[in-house]
Amino acid sequence: MRLRHIMGAEQKIEESGYVIKAPQEYRGRWAELFGNGNPIRLEIGMGKGRFLMEQAQAHPRINFVGVEIYSSVLLKAVQKQEELRLANVRFLCMDALGLADCFAQGEIERIYLNFSDPWPKDRHAKRRLTSPRFLKVYENILTEGGMVEFKTDNRPLFEYSLESLPASGWEILAQTPDLHHSSLAEGNVMTEYEEKFASEGKPICKLVATKRRLE
Ligand code: SAH
Repeated sequence: MRLRHIMGAEQKIEESGYVIKAPQEYRGRWAELFGNGNPIRLEIGMGKGRFLMEQAQAHPRINFVGVEIYSSVLLKAVQKQEELRLANVRFLCMDALGLADCFAQGEIERIYLNFSDPWPKDRHAKRRLTSPRFLKVYENILTEGGMVEFKTDNRPLFEYSLESLPASGWEILAQTPDLHHSSLAEGNVMTEYEEKFASEGKPICKLVATKRRLE
């Protein structure tokens, strides 16, 4: 995501009730925050929020939390949400590495990773959202049988993830190197990046995985 400094982004985000400022205080209590016990799903690296908001509109009985590290990017999603005011949407402006301090074990039903930064250099591999230390975080917040759904246009990152997930004890439930021409395409909701890459003719890769716990 291109970085721009947007004047007042921090302030607008600070003012929005949809951005949770001290998420650690809600650890284990997100049902209270939403006012219902509906399942909670996360999109990590949400960008401008189109996927998240479309999902939230289509599934009012599921709660959605969008996580984005950069306030300048998050701002767009916040502005959209300030208009739509969806009751089942909240945002966190933070590094996903800290999510286990914000959600208790089993509090998250599903995690979406859409077009995560590829970090192609080996020395940056640990920043990839499908690298072992992030997978540990996901494992610590997901329900038993909870899934990670990952889409990317980046073939090397996809190949890396097909290895890193099983190496960390995850089971790949489904995968395709060409989502839009596969049986997984049904019900697919496009993200901003996905639309751009697909319109350039790039195939979109997808995998779905779950962490099996030891008996
Ligand atoms: N999901 C969107 C945006 C993809 S770009 C889409 O598909 O259109 C990847 C996004 O992930 C960027 O906005 C980047 O800022 C964010 N990101 C990268 N690393 C992150 C991290 N560790 N925690 C939270 N967000 C992160």
